[in-house]
Amino acid sequence: AKARGRNCYQFFNPELRDRAAKRYAVEADLARALERRQLRLEYQPLFSLHDQHVVGAEALIRWDHPDRGIVSPVEFIGIAEDRGLIVSIGTWVLHEACRQLAEWSARRNPALPALTMAVNVSSRQLSAPDFAGVVKDVLDRHRLAPTQLCLELTETAQLLDMTEARDALADLARLGVHIALDDFGTGYSSLAHLMQFPANVLKIDRSFVNQLETEGRGREIVAAVTATGHVLGMTVVAEGVETTGQLERLIALGCEQGQGYLLARPLRPDVLAALLELGSES
Ligand code: C2E
Ligand code: CA
Ligand code: CA
Ligand code: CA
Repeated sequence: AKARGRNCYQFFNPELRDRAAKRYAVEADLARALERRQLRLEYQPLFSLHDQHVVGAEALIRWDHPDRGIVSPVEFIGIAEDRGLIVSIGTWVLHEACRQLAEWSARRNPALPALTMAVNVSSRQLSAPDFAGVVKDVLDRHRLAPTQLCLELTETAQLLDMTEARDALADLARLGVHIALDDFGTGYSSLAHLMQFPANVLKIDRSFVNQLETEGRGREIVAAVTATGHVLGMTVVAEGVETTGQLERLIALGCEQGQGYLLARPLRPDVLAALLELGSES
């Protein structure tokens, strides 16, 4: 093989080989992570910006890998999508987040507004058979109002090309579940999609929120996006709020809800329960 010279170099590139080997190992482990109970959810609180109360939380998946430690969803959700594992993982996330929401709701002062739960949904899940039926079953099982659940979607461009996904979205909207356009303003989620999409929540991407205090046009862009959401009757949520300056500007712009390290990080369930000052389990 050596005689073939430089053209073979790439084939023997140790870096590529290592990357492929690592991916292969992650894929094999991920396929078993669910049954081995290595997946869990953290919950990042969402705050109402006008009174600073927690109105709900976003469920964010974590993988406790026995050798690699905590693996970020950024590293494994894409692999789960490619390997066809995202539907089973996503269904587990939906069940677990709703079970948790029902538990918290039962311990919460009934005079307070109902808590909401935001769940990230991959486009592959939406186009899987009977996704809307699965969502309805989960809500029924935990006796949750559909309006307590918000499904966060990215990759909306692809979604609109898929009949199954479009039908599922229409069914979910009719059911009363909230639909959020996640990462709004980035490549996968933009004005064009807003036009045809039955969403009622708009999440402004972190990359805009963190430009709120800089010299450029960040502030004007966030103002315009917020106004656009409001014209369309949507609730506007800012993600990645990290400074008090950003928070003040978002409040001034009339943005309804905020989420970010300044307000709270993603938390273990017991930590969020303490933050919510919930009563003991009945
Ligand atoms: P996302 O939906 O945009 O979630 C927000 C991400 O920003 C989370 O990262 C969160 O921890 C992080 N974040 C929150 N506040 C701040 C902040 O103030 N500053 C900064 N720098 N980051 C902040 P995480 O948990 O690593 O999740 C990454 C992405 O993985 C999520 O982005 C989402 O697209 C995906 N993901 C997470 N859980 C699930 C899931 O259950 N299903 C699916 N399909 N995707 C998920
Ligand atoms: Ca999200
Ligand atoms: Ca986001
Ligand atoms: Ca994101």
